Amino acid sequence: MSDCLFCKIAAGEIPSSKVYEDEKCLAFHDIDPQAPTHFLVIPKEHIGSVAEVNEDNAATVAHIFTVIAREAKRLGLQSYRVVSNIGEQAGQSVPHLHFHVLAGRDMTWPPG
Ligand code: AMP
Ligand code: ZN
Repeated sequence: MSDCLFCKIAAGEIPSSKVYEDEKCLAFHDIDPQAPTHFLVIPKEHIGSVAEVNEDNAATVAHIFTVIAREAKRLGLQSYRVVSNIGEQAGQSVPHLHFHVLAGRDMTWPPG
């Protein structure tokens, strides 16, 4: 999608602090970290949010979760939270599917 921030980051048109990259996805540090470790994992193809996950793109989403598990292990994360906001009321500010991976501090439940 031409006017999408995360499509531009995925294409390398806007720089990011990369954690991991392969042909299907990119992980990069959040520009406004909410925990000592805070990175985002996005598909390279444009998917608007979890609400747009379907049988055609589910393999990419499953792949992203294998990347999250592997990167968390590689970084030595013992405990972490994976979050995806869907829609404005839930706090989604970038309309391209992304999973936040947060770690390194105590977290509360329920989330605010
Ligand atoms: P959300 O608000 O759940 O849609 O998450 C979007 C996240 O993207 C926020 O945590 C922002 O801090 C982060 N973000 C926005 N622009 C950039 C950028 N250029 N590089 C890295 N992270 C960004
Ligand atoms: Zn996009």
